[in-house]
Amino acid sequence: MKVIGLIGGMSWESSMEYYRLINQGIKEKLGGLHSCKCLMYSVDFAEIETLQHQGKWDEASMMMIDAAERLERGGAGFIVICTNTMHKMADDVQKSVKIPLLHIADAAAEKIKEFGLGKVGLLGTRFTMEQDFYRGRLKSIFGIDVVIPDETDRQVIHDIIYNELCLGEIKDVSRKKYTEIIKKLAVSGAEGIILGCTEIPLLVRQEDYEVPLFDTTSIHAEAAVLFALQ
Ligand code: GLU
Repeated sequence: MKVIGLIGGMSWESSMEYYRLINQGIKEKLGGLHSCKCLMYSVDFAEIETLQHQGKWDEASMMMIDAAERLERGGAGFIVICTNTMHKMADDVQKSVKIPLLHIADAAAEKIKEFGLGKVGLLGTRFTMEQDFYRGRLKSIFGIDVVIPDETDRQVIHDIIYNELCLGEIKDVSRKKYTEIIKKLAVSGAEGIILGCTEIPLLVRQEDYEVPLFDTTSIHAEAAVLFALQ
């Protein structure tokens, strides 16, 4: 089994889910008392969030590179960045280490392809929804079209992530807002919805929706389990 190198803390609410899901996955595959071999380097999310909102992406990249290098030195077999947003610098992180990086958007895209879908809605931070690093990758490598909410709805999604979900606050009123936005995306042609922020699955669950939801936390964790056992 490979040692999984997790870059966590963005936020720790979702890093806990990664740890739980990966261990569950290993247990399902190997049975008994088996559990994952992993290292997690967990950042102080307040520092990262400040750099993100100030647009200081180079400094944020340096922090991700530093984390990946620490994990490589510690013996990790591959890198898992436990957030969608910080895949903005995934290419630079990959260049800084010799071990592979398991990209969250690739894992999501493969699952979307398994469902045979060609057009999906994307929910995430404004950075993930609006910039090209995520949508562009889905389109250019996998041929998947992505629709995003309008500007007002993007701000609602973004604010709930940073002001509630990353602080562990799960509110019915926010779930209702997400539901309305998901419905609008489905009406505008989305055949599925990417929960492209690792905290969103703490708020919305597949059982409440007809449209397929692609939970990037679970999908990424599952990909990590399979890769660790390869
Ligand atoms: N965990 C979130 C994501 O998947 C947001 C936190 C962050 O900005 O990294 O994008």
